[in-house]
Amino acid sequence: MFKKNRHGIQIKTAEQLDKMRAAGLVVARTLELLRSSVRPGLTPLDLDAIAEEAIRGEGAVPSFKGYQGFPATICASVNDEVVHGIPSDRRTLREGDVISLDCGAILDGWHGDSAITVPVGEVDPALTELMRVTEESMWRGIAALKVGGHLSDIGFQIERYVRSQGRYGIPQEYGGHGIGTEMHMDPWVANHGRPGRGPRFEPGMCFAIEPMVNLGTDRTKVLADDWTVVTLDGKASAHFEHSVAVTEDGPVVLTALDGGRDRLERLAAETRDGARAPVEGS
Ligand code: MG
Ligand code: MG
Repeated sequence: MFKKNRHGIQIKTAEQLDKMRAAGLVVARTLELLRSSVRPGLTPLDLDAIAEEAIRGEGAVPSFKGYQGFPATICASVNDEVVHGIPSDRRTLREGDVISLDCGAILDGWHGDSAITVPVGEVDPALTELMRVTEESMWRGIAALKVGGHLSDIGFQIERYVRSQGRYGIPQEYGGHGIGTEMHMDPWVANHGRPGRGPRFEPGMCFAIEPMVNLGTDRTKVLADDWTVVTLDGKASAHFEHSVAVTEDGPVVLTALDGGRDRLERLAAETRDGARAPVEGS
């Protein structure tokens, strides 16, 4: 019923990719709603309620709720929390915070998974830059999803971009994953490493690509709630994620409203122009 390649990676048919896209759009619309809802005075639990209503309102099911006992619809990770924060009403969002919102939904048996990090009001310029670098590294990783390329090209492009932008920490123990009839499927997708290794990309493969980038150390710990991952030095962290399909025509971003076309076209143009630009001083 579900075809897998010899590495155990699920290969979707065109019809199945359409269903993945429908699930992805539920997540995309939910995250856009959350993005426009974030403001000082709300609690992460308020955002969780907004997300659950939006997902169920589209006839989908929140995939995180009950996943290995997780109690909520979204992961909400504030400031030094890297990922897997449990939404609560013990903390009110304050001007200057950054909050990562990770959201997953199941529609008709197919999964979408995506995350954004957004500022609460005005934030420190270093945090704005951290979010920009993290999101851009995700797009570099997405652009690596070309038929014939290798799995490790994703992490290579993510790490290369982050390192080119300054001294940031990339937690090595967390990464992306295959996605389809389950949220977390083979293979694991590192956010670092060397290119040209691992399985080759084939049309119909889908991956969740999700860099986490820290302002300080790459080292993390898990809090006593057994979920929340925080940076060891207490400095802020950002997280972006998209679910992406490999096609003959290039990557299709299932959890982006426009399928990622605008950003991927601009990135291709920037990379071309960069390659053509004269070397300074020559
Ligand atoms: Mg996620
Ligand atoms: Mg994920």
